[in-house]
Amino acid sequence: MAIERTLSIIKPDGVEKNVVGNILNRFESASLKIVVLKMVHLSKKEAEGFYAVHKDRPFFEELTTFMSRGPVVITVLEGEDAINKNRTIMGATNPAEADEGTIRKDFAKDVGENSVHGSDGPDTAKVEIGYFFAETELVN
Ligand code: ADP
Ligand code: MG
Repeated sequence: MAIERTLSIIKPDGVEKNVVGNILNRFESASLKIVVLKMVHLSKKEAEGFYAVHKDRPFFEELTTFMSRGPVVITVLEGEDAINKNRTIMGATNPAEADEGTIRKDFAKDVGENSVHGSDGPDTAKVEIGYFFAETELVN
């Protein structure tokens, strides 16, 4: 299987719950390597830009307000099958449907405040990584 890169975000609820280290440990334990990492407080506009693909969805306002309410931890993860592997570790969007032992099962409150973001495919991974990081930061 190919070595891939994917974008991960620990959302404001995850930072508020003080589980940043717990979540990063899950990635490392699954052999996903942290290529680059930063903690930032997104503006509403930055959150809107990141989630532009959802701009016509009814939850867009709620989502972008939530994503800009406090700091987030953004990482690029690298490893075999990283995109799907990360999605498996995250669990289903709605924690009520997430498998046991997944991040969302363990920490998410509901379908909105669901603790983590992960790219859903190679094309979105590339765009999302480029949204937050310059090429020069990705040379590890
Ligand atoms: P995922 O993050 O699992 O890829 P989506 O791309 O479908 O899920 O949605 C992006 C984010 O929008 C979700 O992670 C969640 O924070 C929010 N969201 C999705 N569906 C809803 C909903 N029905 N109500 C509120 N927020 C939602
Ligand atoms: Mg998505």
